[in-house]
Amino acid sequence: LTGTTDPLSPMEKEIDRALRPLSFSDFAGQDKILENIRVFVLAAKQRGEALDHVLLHGPPGLGKTTLSNIISNELGASLKTSSGPVLDKPSDLAGLLTNLQPNDVLFIDEIHRLNPVVEEYLYSAMEDYKIDIMLDSGPNARSIQISLNPFTLIGATTRAGLLTSPLRARFGINCRLEYYDAKLLTSIVKRSSGILGAPIDDEGAYEIARRSRGTPRIANNLLRRTRDFAQVKGSGRITVEIAEIALKALDVDQHGLDEMDIRILTTIIEKFKGGPVGLSTIATACGDEAETIEEVYEPFLIQEGFIKRTSRGREATEKAYRHLGIVPKFRTG
Ligand code: ADP
Repeated sequence: LTGTTDPLSPMEKEIDRALRPLSFSDFAGQDKILENIRVFVLAAKQRGEALDHVLLHGPPGLGKTTLSNIISNELGASLKTSSGPVLDKPSDLAGLLTNLQPNDVLFIDEIHRLNPVVEEYLYSAMEDYKIDIMLDSGPNARSIQISLNPFTLIGATTRAGLLTSPLRARFGINCRLEYYDAKLLTSIVKRSSGILGAPIDDEGAYEIARRSRGTPRIANNLLRRTRDFAQVKGSGRITVEIAEIALKALDVDQHGLDEMDIRILTTIIEKFKGGPVGLSTIATACGDEAETIEEVYEPFLIQEGFIKRTSRGREATEKAYRHLGIVPKFRTG
């Protein structure tokens, strides 16, 4: 409902495109990363070389795709995009690579999900701008080497830990995107409402921002839904009151936790006595994939101190009990 994992409709995709920052100056936050990337982009441009390969990692919705678009715009290069699960065969990758113009950018989303055979091919492409292509099979099999134009690979992943070390080692630039604070998200919400032509109060923007799980994509989604409420239930203006009504209707709680976050915490506390309990057990009890919980929900719950990760599994913290208004059964005080 809040767009943590839901696919977007075509209309929403259109809006999503309109809200996407296109230049460094439109991109809010991640200052340290931006500062460095600006230097690397400028230096590569001055030398007329391809930018070194870039790995972007961090939870979904923090701006990895956006940043790749910006990097290619700022380089004045074209961007080709693909994703790990889509690049099934080496020939898929070869097709993409051989079509790149000098210094172009190839963006591969979910790069941790590359087929290992395809990944092998990527190594020489990244390192020497060369690939070996197999011709024929059986006794006639032979490989020919093809030279590629220099290019930049930007890999994005929610799970940097799942990258093989040879792949990770081939990225010269490695950036971890962080959750955004409420102030930054407020500026993102205001910028987006400007683009949408939706009038908004400062307090309304802040209310949406602080309840967006530190994530620009969620902030933009909540803004769009709140705009609907403002239109139908209010005067059209997004006030703090309208934001509160909308967020309540969307099951986003005071801390910005959504239905699934709450289900995860409740499950750990009520079914497993607060933990420790293994991730896959939690996933089964919550009716979601372990991978989704680990990539999408857990990082925020850990950062905000609702869950602790221990060697024996996940544990609910005091803060989680307090947040849900549950008195710990096995603790005193
Ligand atoms: P990711 O690729 O990490 O999942 P995206 O780049 O698709 O995330 O970002 C999701 C949406 O959030 C984008 O469409 C964009 O509108 C918005 N967004 C992300 N980062 C920023 C930012 N730093 N400033 C403004 N908007 C942002």
